[in-house]
Amino acid sequence: MRIDIVSIFPGYFDVLELSLLGKAKQRGLIEVGVHDLRDAAHDRHRTVDDTPTGGGAGMVMKPEPWGEALDGILEAEGADPDPLIIFPSPAGEVFTQRMARELAGERHLVFGCGRYEGIDQRVFEEYGSRARVKLVSIGDYVLNGGEVATIAMIEAIARLIPGVVGNPESLVEESHEEDGLLEYPSYTKPAEWRGRAVPPVLLSGNHAAIAEWRREQSIERTRAGRPELLPRELRGEARGRHAAE
Ligand code: SAM
Repeated sequence: MRIDIVSIFPGYFDVLELSLLGKAKQRGLIEVGVHDLRDAAHDRHRTVDDTPTGGGAGMVMKPEPWGEALDGILEAEGADPDPLIIFPSPAGEVFTQRMARELAGERHLVFGCGRYEGIDQRVFEEYGSRARVKLVSIGDYVLNGGEVATIAMIEAIARLIPGVVGNPESLVEESHEEDGLLEYPSYTKPAEWRGRAVPPVLLSGNHAAIAEWRREQSIERTRAGRPELLPRELRGEARGRHAAE
């Protein structure tokens, strides 16, 4: 997958060199280009913002640098003919695991990171008429810029690309995957720590009982923390024989 990012703070994306994403880059599973929006601003101060037309607080990102930066990516030699441009925005569709899975199948993602009060609306209209454009929110709160939102999305998307995470089975059993439930609690050794014992069923070696316990825990956790995620058919289930353990 090719990922291009446009931002006035390219340094934010140094974290993509670390851990599994860094390895995925080294192995060629993802290819990332980070573009400084100010390179497309040609006045002495490399200005990318201006006052809001019609008045109001704050500054708005000017359309011209965005036009030049995005044209440069979309019209580059060998560019993918059908990229998806994502503008992180608190006014966008909420990012979910399902969306991450869909986006993991794309060949070319372009992220446009807003700052200040956001980007001039005509940029969304212009690129919406030339490519697929999505405004995406990572949650109902407001960040200072789209950089952190972009990093969160890239991490969630890239780990679903085959080969990025070593053991693909570890992706299946996670929260928000397949059955829509939150994941059961995890334990490792030692069997007792500061007087707190691992649930005995996990030490039993009885795989069917362990699977049953984990499912009950998943359902109870989802019911307690995120009841709106619980599938209708499970609303009466759980509180089974291990639920109190
Ligand atoms: N004035 C905008 C509004 O009320 O919708 C908020 C602008 S915010 C201060 C600056 C930038 O941060 C946005 O253009 C967007 O790129 C990013 N941003 C802020 N909150 C976000 C969120 N919840 N999800 C995704 N991006 C966000």
